[in-house]
Amino acid sequence: MTMRDTDRALVQAASAVAKLRCRSAAHTLASAARTADGRVISAVNVVHATGGACPETVALGTAATQGVGELETIVTVGDRGRAIVTPCDPCRQLLAEHFPSLRLIVGPVDNPQVTTIV
Ligand SMILES: [Zn+2]
Repeated sequence: MTMRDTDRALVQAASAVAKLRCRSAAHTLASAARTADGRVISAVNVVHATGGACPETVALGTAATQGVGELETIVTVGDRGRAIVTPCDPCRQLLAEHFPSLRLIVGPVDNPQVTTIV
């Protein structure tokens, strides 16, 4: 799938959230998701001794809270300039169940790729 300008903007949005909000051991990853109508939802993970919640899960909950019907594209980045992070298997399954046509941005920051969630 082709990287669009809006995909590059989504990577930048996730990176900005990671830089701004991931400043402790409690929050180490940030996701940004674009909705079908062009809004951007961002979220950070929550680390806990039992494992916590991944940013993709938090983004999904945030989308539901804001009444978003469809997520179109999602990307997750690490804190402190770490690269784009591929969602863990449980999150991929969760996202695929809720948004089977979701586009996923993966790969190195300097050459990201778009793939499908399933
Ligand atoms: Zn996960």
